[in-house]
Amino acid sequence: MSILVVGSVAFDSVETPFGKVEEVLGGSATYFSTSASFFTDVRLVAVVGEDFPPEHLNFLRSRNIDLAGLQVSAGATFRWQGRYGFDLNEAHTLDTRLNVLESFRPELPEGYEEAEYVFLANIDPELQLDVLKKVRRPRLIACDTMNFWIEGKREALLKTLRNVDIFLLNEGEARQLAAEPNLIKAARIILAMGPRTVVIKRGEYGVLMVTEHAIFSAPAYPLESVFDPTGAGDTFAGGFMGYLAATRDEGDAAVRKAIVFGSVMASFTVEDFSLERLRTLSYPQIEERYRKFKLLTEFEGIEEV
Ligand code: AMP
Repeated sequence: MSILVVGSVAFDSVETPFGKVEEVLGGSATYFSTSASFFTDVRLVAVVGEDFPPEHLNFLRSRNIDLAGLQVSAGATFRWQGRYGFDLNEAHTLDTRLNVLESFRPELPEGYEEAEYVFLANIDPELQLDVLKKVRRPRLIACDTMNFWIEGKREALLKTLRNVDIFLLNEGEARQLAAEPNLIKAARIILAMGPRTVVIKRGEYGVLMVTEHAIFSAPAYPLESVFDPTGAGDTFAGGFMGYLAATRDEGDAAVRKAIVFGSVMASFTVEDFSLERLRTLSYPQIEERYRKFKLLTEFEGIEEV
């Protein structure tokens, strides 16, 4: 089952302790779509400027991503500049240039309003709401955001949250949105804002899922070399939603498995800058890492090694 995603398509300039890149392909919807495309069909709703090169479009097409909803507007593509210190869990935004995102009005191509799976990737919450109003009877809506919107568009974000099933955000954002340092308490405050499931991404410490009745915790896949964490959250969301849409199952067990698939996808993204690692990734590699992930957390009935 295909997923409709709205989010940013960007040029990122990123500095980590291990290197630096300028104006590389990025954006929340770009990472999400590429990651989800390993599991199911993706329909991308976004905007780029006239400066967006055909090779990036060709890459997205090569992943079978439907670009009918990608507008090309006069002006420059959205740009984000960020830096990471040795604590790779925290991105420091140096510059955000909305450019064509500023006047973007999402249009849904014919058939898109019947979407069953909708992902509102990190973008202006007013645009997230715009898309939500246009889809008729979605079966599952998930959403992401970041500090930039929590600070700048809180009311619109709260409106979006009243209409979503699953909310994914990172731990700093959860604390900020709930104004509560304890993560479990913060998750409960966020649940009261509307979503029935909150998935808190904790970088190298993994993921915490909280619902009214359950808590589930998964570690991050242990990697010796993390190169660039940019896009980890969106790639996680792509694997997570991709798995749920492919199986058409939103039960508790499926959501837990989806969290592990999301974590597996994120673990690949951080191994290189931009989407470089996802370009060469294959589904058997995803399955192999999923199996290793399972072993990582098994503690009953294992044979001595
Ligand atoms: P993450 O998965 O959280 O690391 O997301 C990183 C991506 O978010 C980058 O590729 C950026 O282009 C994109 N991004 C950064 N700031 C914003 C923003 N304010 N709105 C939409 N996308 C953004």
